[in-house]
Amino acid sequence: MEISKSRELFERAQKTIPGGVNSPVRAFRSVGGTPLFINKARGSYLYDANGNKYIDYIASWGPMILGHAHEQVIKAIQERATLSTSYGAPTELEIEMAELITGMVPHVDLVRMVNSGTEACMSAVRLARGFTGRNKILKFEGHYHGHADSFLVKAGSGLATLEIQTVPGITAGVAQDTLTAPFNNFPAVEELVKKYSGEIAAIIVEPVAGNMGCVPPSAGFLESLRNICDQEKIVLIFDEVMTGFRLAPGGAQEKLGIRADLVTYGKVIGGGLPVGAFGGRREIMEHIAPLGKVYQAGTLSGNPLAMIAGITTLKILKENPSIYSELEEKTRYLHSGLDEVLKKQDLPYTINRFGSMISVHFSGRPVKDFESASITDTARFNRFFHGMLEQGIYLPPSAFESWFLNNALSIRDLDETIEAAAQAASS
Ligand SMILES: *Cc1c(COP(=O)(O)O)cnc(C)c1O
Repeated sequence: MEISKSRELFERAQKTIPGGVNSPVRAFRSVGGTPLFINKARGSYLYDANGNKYIDYIASWGPMILGHAHEQVIKAIQERATLSTSYGAPTELEIEMAELITGMVPHVDLVRMVNSGTEACMSAVRLARGFTGRNKILKFEGHYHGHADSFLVKAGSGLATLEIQTVPGITAGVAQDTLTAPFNNFPAVEELVKKYSGEIAAIIVEPVAGNMGCVPPSAGFLESLRNICDQEKIVLIFDEVMTGFRLAPGGAQEKLGIRADLVTYGKVIGGGLPVGAFGGRREIMEHIAPLGKVYQAGTLSGNPLAMIAGITTLKILKENPSIYSELEEKTRYLHSGLDEVLKKQDLPYTINRFGSMISVHFSGRPVKDFESASITDTARFNRFFHGMLEQGIYLPPSAFESWFLNNALSIRDLDETIEAAAQAASS
């Protein structure tokens, strides 16, 4: 594939942008090679600067669940933009968004809009601390909650990809207030809760992990977290930045039937524009300013273009719940197709799947936490990644990221992907 334009752009980008990118995983560091500069996207396809076409399995890391440049979403943004792009004052759109979220998601009484998933998680933790008067939080190894200081301890996503264990710039005090346990290991959680009894403000968890590949929760694990949080008066935060509105209209809370105290959103909720949100039980949310003293604000929070893109996306999802079963069916189809072709190769692999999230790990062991995700053969993954890319299949450039299906993908796209995988796995 001719990618001369991306090469040129990458050279130019590195002169003025650190590493040539505005988010680390985009740089292809771990898989090697030149990141593709994207020019446009439509439906399930991405087109790079040279005009090459790729079937997209990143969906902008989740938001583009309906496929790219969805006609209704684009039209709504265009119409709204003519009324100016920001006012710094309340709009009816923000109410509409809050009503949609609280209507679609169980157990969310009040919701506040922010501009990214990072902001949502950071604010939810601050709120939990303010509400409980405690300082420590407990997170899971390999889980990613954005790049705020307290989360950058044993984190997934780009930190796992770049093998960054400790982050320069994070103070020891902050790091000490972040406790970590292996995902799906409840005894480890119990031990920490006992040891730091009365000190833990919140347990924050990706209910279905997606930042170390896709790693679903073990049976009973989230229920146990719910119980211990009730017993110890710890705020249970579901980070649904990835799973929210992707696994079901009500996200993992609905899909798994478990109540969180606070929930964070991002990605799908913005329909491709920068949006995040956090919400939950009224009793806790009422501690946010101006009702309470936990301060949280944003110049562009609830931005009208971001709201209309998100509202339009959520409405389509709400009015067409079959999208979820279609997506799940497509993911299942891809799973069995990949299984079929990988089985024929003499190499260990594990495929994890939940809803429209799926990942292939080149490891023979079940992948259920960060440790088992880490023993995947990354050299093999990198060859697979480039083998796929060469055939026009755009996978996340890291063994530690989930693939996200979008509903514009056709069976033909999936068949093409499976065929390409047969080739890429044999190389
Ligand atoms: C992407 C992600 C975040 C961070 O969201 P940004 O919008 O990138 O700041 C937080 N939590 C999870 C689970 C995510 O997948």
